[in-house]
Amino acid sequence: MGEKRYLTERMQPFTSTIFAEITALATRTGSINLGQGFPDTDGPRELLDAASTALYSGANQYPPGPGIPELRTAVAEHQQRFYDLDVDPDTEVLITTGATEAIASSILALCEPGDEVVTFEPYYDSYVASIALAGAERRTVRLRHPRFDIDGDELRAAFSDRTRIVLLNTPHNPTGKVFTRAELEHIAELAVEHDAVVVTDEVYEHLVFDGLSHVPIATLPQMADRTLTISSAGKTFSVTGWKIGWMHGRAELVAAARAVKQFLTFVSGGPLQPAVAAGLRLGDEVFHDLGRNLQRKRDLLVAGLQRAGFDVFPTSGTYFVIVDAAPLGFDDGVELCQRLPELAGVAAVPVSVFCDDKESTRSLVRFAFCKRDEVLHAAADRLSRLGAG
Ligand code: PMP
Ligand code: GLN
Repeated sequence: MGEKRYLTERMQPFTSTIFAEITALATRTGSINLGQGFPDTDGPRELLDAASTALYSGANQYPPGPGIPELRTAVAEHQQRFYDLDVDPDTEVLITTGATEAIASSILALCEPGDEVVTFEPYYDSYVASIALAGAERRTVRLRHPRFDIDGDELRAAFSDRTRIVLLNTPHNPTGKVFTRAELEHIAELAVEHDAVVVTDEVYEHLVFDGLSHVPIATLPQMADRTLTISSAGKTFSVTGWKIGWMHGRAELVAAARAVKQFLTFVSGGPLQPAVAAGLRLGDEVFHDLGRNLQRKRDLLVAGLQRAGFDVFPTSGTYFVIVDAAPLGFDDGVELCQRLPELAGVAAVPVSVFCDDKESTRSLVRFAFCKRDEVLHAAADRLSRLGAG
């Protein structure tokens, strides 16, 4: 008998995440980390104060399984305020340990082994791991650069009579694509035709630029009843380590996900829940400023990347921008990201690791711009060495 492998077959491809690898590389080499997407400043003071107050006033035991009523109500009010969605906080909201757990529990709750999940590539890494955990199959549709468009025929062909879920992400990581209403309508039409549930990851909902609007697919006709909408506090309030997320949707769908969630983590982040509720109730300007500020950072980094000689693709949302490194003579993004700390003192993430079709994205690299201006200036400066060499 060969050496015993403890990890199950279905999890063999997922032994480490690219984000952990690149952050470790950045730390080891003292590089500027534009790989993993996390801000280097804290979010609104009101949240931090509310968390600290909750921590010192006894909110340290198990909160209720679905989440504290105050936070479920704040989620419902937020959806009403920004998207005119009617959500019942008692039956239609579930608080989770980050969006990550909301995604995993939705997929584990809804998919039988062999069921199919339609999603888009490049994809967020936890999607494929969660699909594999459920024993389901992924059917990916390519977002084609430079504009990350969808081919309508390819989208239709990804659906079958085994399609159970369409797993959507808008604004989209890693491309920065904000799906248009027309694209969402096409996806919705196919979901209805195949009686699929749409699980939509909207963690970057407030990080949208250039006057574009984020459209939750749940707002389209016939969709509220077949959609689980997911978001989290991490991006909206610059607290990625808090891991407070949520989902909302039809009561039966939320109840199914809750059945799984209770055995993954049971409940989530007691003292952080009231703080996130306070955050969701902040004035509109806080949400708008976030996008405006980040758009400026995007422009700053994009200009630096262009000066360095990369071919930079348009990004309208999220923390991220994708570049093609081929014009600088780098055809392999995985290799470039291994060497970038040594070449320029900057860390980034290769895009092909988020794709089944690795060839078409081979020379693409993702940079994060959710950093202080001086850090972005320093990174741009360092990257300008690449062309000179
Ligand atoms: N979805 C996407 C698209 C992400 O980029 C991330 C990373 N933050 C997550 C989900 C995970 O969110 P959370 O940290 O709330 O689990
Ligand atoms: N969402 C972040 C990114 O895409 C990282 C989250 C993680 O490290 N799992 O960079």
